[in-house]
Amino acid sequence: MRKIAVIDKGICVACGVCVKACPRGAVAVYHGCYAVADGAACVGCGLCGKACPTGCITILERGDAK
Ligand code: SF4
Ligand code: SF4
Repeated sequence: MRKIAVIDKGICVACGVCVKACPRGAVAVYHGCYAVADGAACVGCGLCGKACPTGCITILERGDAK
């Protein structure tokens, strides 16, 4: 897959909405602090970003997601 969800930890409020929105179970909230997308499972569909209430998820081309 060429795209991946990148989550801004500084903006994320750990609400868990993206975890429920992801059809692949690729997002997890770590330590109740912030969400992280698993690069191996994420297909870059963008559903998490559409659902996120704070707008802190960006879908990037994998070559840019460093
Ligand atoms: S882009 Fe799609 S597959 Fe990747 S974490 Fe978000 S909802 Fe899940
Ligand atoms: S929906 Fe947005 S604010 Fe909520 S846990 Fe996911 S990335 Fe963080």
